[in-house]
Amino acid sequence: MFCQLCNKGSLSSTSDYYGYRLCDDCVSSLGLHKDATIQKNIAVYEKKRQAVPENPTYRQDVEYRLKFIEEDYKRKRIKLLHILDGIGRLE
Ligand SMILES: [Zn+2]
Repeated sequence: MFCQLCNKGSLSSTSDYYGYRLCDDCVSSLGLHKDATIQKNIAVYEKKRQAVPENPTYRQDVEYRLKFIEEDYKRKRIKLLHILDGIGRLE
């Protein structure tokens, strides 16, 4: 088993995080929020949102950001692969 972030093998333990197998060090480095932190962030966000109720909810904002980074990742990956193709043609 290899960690899908750092590629270290022979892991003592791995866990599945949304389809990614991660070692304990990488899980720690992600700084995943505990439920209490998420709850606090919802409260802070919703308090600001009271001034502009038509703004998205915290959940909608997180969903939007997730969709945005997934599209952004694809765009940047395609661009880099295209550059690599160009390098290959020019070498
Ligand atoms: Zn790792």
